[in-house]
Amino acid sequence: MENVYDIIVIGGGPAGIGAAFTAAEQKMKVAIVERHSILGGNWTNGYVLSILGVYTYSGKTKIVGGVADKVIERLKSANGTGGKVGNFIPFRPDEMKITLEQMSSDLNIDLFYNSLVTGVETVGNTIKGLKITGKNGTKLIYGKTFIDSSGDADVAHLLSLNTLSGNDKGVHQEATIPFRIGNVNESKVIEFSKNNPNKIAVVITEGRLSRIRILPELVEKAKNEHMLYLPHANAEFLFNTSKAGEFVCNATHVNVTDFSDGNELAKISSDARMQVLSSLNFLVKEIPGFENSYLIDSGSFIGLRETRRAIGEYVLSKNDVLNNAKFYDVIARCGHPIEVHDPDKGVYYIHLNGGDDSWYEIPYRAIVVKGVSNLFVIGRCISSEFEAQASARVTGTAMSMGQAAAFASMLMIKNNISAKEVNITELQALLRNYGALI
Ligand SMILES: Cc1cc2nc3c(=O)[nH]c(=O)nc-3n(C[C@H](O)[C@H](O)[C@H](O)COP(=O)(O)OP(=O)(O)OC[C@H]3O[C@@H](n4cnc5c(N)ncnc54)[C@H](O)[C@@H]3O)c2cc1C
Repeated sequence: MENVYDIIVIGGGPAGIGAAFTAAEQKMKVAIVERHSILGGNWTNGYVLSILGVYTYSGKTKIVGGVADKVIERLKSANGTGGKVGNFIPFRPDEMKITLEQMSSDLNIDLFYNSLVTGVETVGNTIKGLKITGKNGTKLIYGKTFIDSSGDADVAHLLSLNTLSGNDKGVHQEATIPFRIGNVNESKVIEFSKNNPNKIAVVITEGRLSRIRILPELVEKAKNEHMLYLPHANAEFLFNTSKAGEFVCNATHVNVTDFSDGNELAKISSDARMQVLSSLNFLVKEIPGFENSYLIDSGSFIGLRETRRAIGEYVLSKNDVLNNAKFYDVIARCGHPIEVHDPDKGVYYIHLNGGDDSWYEIPYRAIVVKGVSNLFVIGRCISSEFEAQASARVTGTAMSMGQAAAFASMLMIKNNISAKEVNITELQALLRNYGALI
């Protein structure tokens, strides 16, 4: 067989690039198959312009290292981020797109853009290749190990394996199109918040306006007066992108019943874009400091928080998250609370019992797909209960799952073994040596 990759990564989002960059740095032959023509997934297509999970929720303790550090450093040198603000790393989207492509190119990763994985070739319980579909139809690419970072557990689904989806009633988290807004007069916003603490709240971090929250009193009033079309939200949340006067607004919310239905996606996307325009007009008209601001851009793909999850050798549970579980086969840490954007209850958080400076561990078994010898699942579609995914999905954590899948793949290829047979002590030693904080 010609052109067999060591590792094929399905989806070039935060989890996928974490896996691919780590593996390619270890001189593995790596391909990323990506259905869009851009790397970054929700970061760049969905305008999630903040990396959460590298620090605990309090922002006090760093809990993710390794490949995430390399991406953030490279982004800093491209002026795409000023680094940490509180507990997150805000960044600008185009610098992220360019940085990720440059890193891929430096690492000799083969990128397949506009290529959707639509089929899987197996022999017994081992995957041999993937069918990837583009303009000219479908072709096969072959690999030794496969890392599903599609966000939707597409490979498990294509293999007809059982998967998990939605909460216990099958209901998904709501989806969002964030938008970027420029020319915000920060001192005016701060002044307005001082005089109107019931209408707007601000967070100043290290002397800079980092977050703005338009509170329910003002939002509900505007909605009641038909000045604001935001059917599923009662507050607007904005954060600074690391450039003065530039903010991302995360306010739009739409229900998702079938994320695989293109017609439904079109309808909910255009509804979310109406909410973008209405939110912008509301901010410009009603909030001092926004009067000269303007829409820079918005996500080109609706940001799906949760869709389908694979079933692994372990299913990370809500109790694991809340009780700060520790595992013998730890491969990553996460300190993000459970954050649910619920169609009925709105946005709610459940914090870790250990407090906002604590974390839980993610076990290796939760990234090993059950019933397949050479398939990992990482990121948004990790083997997890609905509430556990609502915490573990953040992008710092996604990158660290990726680096674990990469080193595990390396050990599988070196020792000619299955994912289940990987020596945990050896894997953890490789991860620590690479900078992983476990
Ligand atoms: C509105 C919103 C706000 C959020 N806010 C934050 C935040 O502030 N900070 C934070 O850290 N996280 C945030 N999150 C969560 C985070 O963005 C996601 O959980 C994260 O992107 C997970 O990374 P991933 O690589 O697993 O998945 P994704 O980012 O979804 O990437 C999956 C990739 O796979 C590709 N793909 C899918 N199917 C196929 C296929 N069959 N073939 C080929 N390619 C395929 C997709 O095009 C995509 O590029 C937010 C999410 C949303 C939606």
